[in-house]
Amino acid sequence: MRIALLSDIHGNLDAFEAVLRDLEGRGVDAAYSLGDNIGYGAQPEEVVRLLRARGIPSVLGNHELAAKQPETLAWFNPAARRSLALTLEWLAPEERAFLAALPLFLSVHGVRLVHGVPPDSPTTYLFEIPLYELGDRFGSFPERICFVGHTHLLGLHRLEGGKVREEELGPGEHRLDPPGRYLVNVGSVGQPRDGDPRAKYAVWDAGRGVLEIHRVPYDAAAAAAKILARGLPAEHARRLVR
Ligand code: ZN
Repeated sequence: MRIALLSDIHGNLDAFEAVLRDLEGRGVDAAYSLGDNIGYGAQPEEVVRLLRARGIPSVLGNHELAAKQPETLAWFNPAARRSLALTLEWLAPEERAFLAALPLFLSVHGVRLVHGVPPDSPTTYLFEIPLYELGDRFGSFPERICFVGHTHLLGLHRLEGGKVREEELGPGEHRLDPPGRYLVNVGSVGQPRDGDPRAKYAVWDAGRGVLEIHRVPYDAAAAAAKILARGLPAEHARRLVR
């Protein structure tokens, strides 16, 4: 079984389509979204439609939480709030209802999917939890591996012999051998915060016990221009191309 993990697409259809094209030759059985499909980007409606057309299950991100509980808009910084308020206006009521109904976590093929941190938080950032507390977090879910997004930064936490170690997650293959347990941050498809404009995603090959990290170039300048053309905050366009 090979599954693709995509996170933080953030209304960036150009990046999302590039990742789907990149997936075509990779022998993947299923793809999953770790949430934040909307917000920041210029094409949230198209992203939601494509997600549904491809039958890609998603968990609830903090941006989708705003579709469910509009009072959570107050938690966002002013630019993000403005972007999200416009996004929610553009989405059809039925699309908003779809997003609001997304689950807080999924347990599929023996792995757990959460937007922020396990067991099921869409709002807490991984970096908010000190390393010495992460060991306890591993006790809060039964799956050996949990995939997260939310920070838009790739990273790996490994629990082995009672100790948690943090490791970089560069491109290429990484073995996630038992009995170790792992927390994998797959980075962002559509709104990078790591200084690399490419779209990032992961493939988990359960049979080989190998995690693959992929980076996909796409026309980020076009996606940035659409953000400006639609009157969304310019800083979210700049982040795509710098
Ligand atoms: Zn996000």
